[in-house]
Amino acid sequence: MTEHSSDKTALVLFSGGQDSATCLAWALARFAKVETIGFDYGQRHLIELECRARLLDGFRAISDDWAAKLGDNHTLTIPTLAEISDTALTRDVAIAMGADGLPNTFVPGRNLIFLNFAAALAYRRGITDIVGGMCETDYSGYPDCRNETIQALQTALSLGMARDITLHTPLMWRDKAATWQLAQDLGGDPLVDLIREDSHTCYLGERGARHDWGYGCGECPACQLRAKGWNEYAAGA
Ligand code: ZN
Repeated sequence: MTEHSSDKTALVLFSGGQDSATCLAWALARFAKVETIGFDYGQRHLIELECRARLLDGFRAISDDWAAKLGDNHTLTIPTLAEISDTALTRDVAIAMGADGLPNTFVPGRNLIFLNFAAALAYRRGITDIVGGMCETDYSGYPDCRNETIQALQTALSLGMARDITLHTPLMWRDKAATWQLAQDLGGDPLVDLIREDSHTCYLGERGARHDWGYGCGECPACQLRAKGWNEYAAGA
């Protein structure tokens, strides 16, 4: 990919988390227009929806250039995903962490499902560049985030839609500290502060306690990873 795909539009998978917010900044630095897509699939929906809206307002406030480039923010509802998670399958089980470090709401291959929906929507809008926060560095628990998986899906989507689809994963080889640094490089302190304050990471959907690294339960694997990355980043900044 060229450094400036200046005439093209990108579609960013935008959940309202740290990774997807950083991906959004990455796309805004490279594309003429940027649209966002999020998925409504259950209990974390409300918090993610609120975070997405606040983050988008924040992006527009930080930069006129970003405000001009930001286009439609799409939300697709996929209630089927809740039917496949443990909490639904076993009915009266609360959200909890499994021995594999993944929440029991985790749907196998979830990112494949998201990317397929994103690609179909992108096709309808004449977009061939899709950006996602998939990362192989920190999350060995998610095989659908691996580079090999994404490369294979890019091939499948391009074949299946008879169009050259590019799946961009700028965070693939970055750990969480490097992701904070990327936000710093792309948007300086205002972007780092926005992501700290308004992005959401916690598996349990908790926003109550404010830590150095943002809001969350502080205990789940996602919070611990975010805290560790922030501490490393802050120590080096
Ligand atoms: Zn948490």
